Amino acid sequence: MSERGLSAAAAGFARCDVCESLVPWRRDMPPDSERCCPRCGSVVRLRRPNSIGRTWALVLSAYVMYVPANLFAMTAISQLGSTERDTILGGVLELLAAGWYPVAVLIFIASITVPLGKLLCLTGLLISVQRRSPWRPRDRTVLYRVVEQIGRWSMLDVFVLTLLIALVQLGSLMTVEVGRAGTFFASVVVLTILAAKSFDPRLIWDVMEEEK
Ligand SMILES: [Zn+2]
Repeated sequence: MSERGLSAAAAGFARCDVCESLVPWRRDMPPDSERCCPRCGSVVRLRRPNSIGRTWALVLSAYVMYVPANLFAMTAISQLGSTERDTILGGVLELLAAGWYPVAVLIFIASITVPLGKLLCLTGLLISVQRRSPWRPRDRTVLYRVVEQIGRWSMLDVFVLTLLIALVQLGSLMTVEVGRAGTFFASVVVLTILAAKSFDPRLIWDVMEEEK
């Protein structure tokens, strides 16, 4: 066995995603066929079905949603009859002007850098797998793990925003509401999480296996 390890598929097995048992998989079976897990009854596949196509569709939709998420107002602050609307970036600039540096940096990282960074990483992974690139598979796997793990922190800025709204509304005549961008922003987050879930990182290693 080489130091690259032996994949379950090369050893004649497919892994059940639910109970993790190994299901015998004959080499002559088409790669997109399905079997029933003999232990728990779930559907077992060699690789996530149509992984590249699905991930591309989700990533591209997330890019499209990212535009209105940044162009429309994220917050609408009403005070004494006048309403001021701010985009995410506008809100960050306003927080900077008010001297709330840590909150401004947190919102900038969580709302602008992280979602775009995740989408760019997934795009890079998709292109590398599609071009069957043998380039640094280990680093690409780490990159995928980071993108997948970061998903659970994606709503952090929504949390910060709600906290901020509660703070501002506490004992003042101001009312703060989440603007139209909120829906688009939430869809970027959800689409990116789904895209990370539908990408099959084993595709990175399949190329290495074929090269042997
Ligand atoms: Zn199972």
